[in-house]
Amino acid sequence: MARILDGTAIAAAIKAEVAEKVRALAAKGIRPGLAAVLVGNVAASEIYVRSKVQTCADLGLYSELITPSADITTEAMLDLVRALNDREEIDGILIQLPLPAQVDTKALLDAVDPAKDVDGFHPVNAGRLQAGRPALAPCTPAGVIEILKRSRIPIAGQNAVVVGRSDIVGKPAAMLLLHQNATVTICHSKTRDLGAVTREADILVAAIGRPGFITAEMVKPGATVIDVGINRITDRAEFERCFAGNAKREAAFLKRGSTIVGDVHPAAFEVAGAYTPVPGGVGPLTIAMLMANTVQVAQMRRELPRRGL
Ligand code: NDP
Repeated sequence: MARILDGTAIAAAIKAEVAEKVRALAAKGIRPGLAAVLVGNVAASEIYVRSKVQTCADLGLYSELITPSADITTEAMLDLVRALNDREEIDGILIQLPLPAQVDTKALLDAVDPAKDVDGFHPVNAGRLQAGRPALAPCTPAGVIEILKRSRIPIAGQNAVVVGRSDIVGKPAAMLLLHQNATVTICHSKTRDLGAVTREADILVAAIGRPGFITAEMVKPGATVIDVGINRITDRAEFERCFAGNAKREAAFLKRGSTIVGDVHPAAFEVAGAYTPVPGGVGPLTIAMLMANTVQVAQMRRELPRRGL
């Protein structure tokens, strides 16, 4: 029986540690602050951002939600970001993606002060991460490492295979695993015989964006499987492919007309030695690591300004 890696419990432990650091900073008159920019009315983005802002309140951080309308221009967004860069009480700046098509996302991410880049998306932080310098690491990949470490899953010397090479998940996850001395392989849509590669993985990280894509045959028995994917499925045939015979999921699917599945097929978890469930695996870590990054920035900018990033 595979071990379930409980992301919700691990995230709760990290948030408790963050709250402790917030209290210590408060004693010195410092309150870490996060500005979250949410453009337009994308339903999923609204849910994510509101839960980030709520978590700030729960842990004692200051937060500000800025909600420009969906027709904002790149120039106006750049002005907004520059103003946030200049504000002393704002430690972290988060721009919720995706942005509307007319906004130049790369220009905007590049405009965020790297020292306030709590999402770790600025090229300076990506470069620092690669070069093994202190850097703000993207929250989801940082959460993957926390899950492995806090679950005492060995990383050094293990074969780690990351499927997906996005700048926000796949690439930084691979880099962080490399820094932990794993032997890392990165796969993507052009990889030949993907299953042959994934079957070599002691640690398999799936960050693809395709429901139930990693099947049982693609997993080495006993491997640790980290499922980063969050996919909402509404199609009955897709549901049957992933959850046939699962009465609990079926009841939820019929009630809501949809359910969430990761990038790993549930049958693959039975082959694994340990795995992160979806939901309740990697997802909760993303917000916990955002909080941790914001407090880290506050410490570097305000408590130890001369040692900052
Ligand atoms: P992207 O779409 O940016 O990247 C997907 C990657 O998967 C690409 O590198 C792509 O390869 C690769 N890929 C696509 N199809 C295949 C295939 N058939 N075989 C092998 N590789 C393939 O997605 P993200 O990295 O942003 O997100 C990945 C998943 O993680 C999504 O489900 C997303 O919802 C979830 N996510 C979860 C978060 C959380 O908090 N838990 C946070 C962020 C994302 P190529 O480069 O060749 O196109």
